[in-house]
Amino acid sequence: GNKNINAKLVLLGDPGAGKSSLVLRFVKGQFVEFQESTIGAAFFSQTLVVNDATVKFEIWDTAGQERYHSLAPMYYRGAAAAIIVYDITNPASFDRAKKWVLELQAQGNPNMVMALAGNKADLLDDRKVAAEEAQVYAQENGLFFMETSAKTATNVNDIFHEIAKRLPRV
Ligand code: GDP
Ligand code: MG
Repeated sequence: GNKNINAKLVLLGDPGAGKSSLVLRFVKGQFVEFQESTIGAAFFSQTLVVNDATVKFEIWDTAGQERYHSLAPMYYRGAAAAIIVYDITNPASFDRAKKWVLELQAQGNPNMVMALAGNKADLLDDRKVAAEEAQVYAQENGLFFMETSAKTATNVNDIFHEIAKRLPRV
């Protein structure tokens, strides 16, 4: 029969990487050029149907600023999935993404499904992080990797869909 799964999902990553934009695209199918920066965290929910299950994502979109760092465990603790977002035009955001991965590996749920999103994939002319480098990093660290664009919608539904497929069936 069809299973119903509730999954807490957290987005982590540098301010400006596009976390809120990915959520807005996934939940509302919209994109805005001047997305307001997130204060603290914002909550959304969205349901996805995969082959054998209906997955209700409970999404925590975090702010990413250092001054909110101490709040992050509230959002990733107990999370079934995380999307760690960086901006392909910003190498510092890729470094920061790796720090989030280390923190999740140390403090997060060991069964957490982790996705690495190289966002702003539409800005190819400004690319500073090679897809191959991120792919290798993801593979070595037990994440799956996709380049996404909240602007063009490339791979946005796909990344949530892939997470839904990988969540443990209980
Ligand atoms: P957050 O701080 O990680 O939540 O990032 P935001 O979602 O607020 O996005 C920061 C800025 O990047 C905003 O001006 C967005 O419009 C822009 N942005 C987000 N995603 C994309 C994308 O995929 N492509 C482009 N070109 N801009 C994006
Ligand atoms: Mg935000």
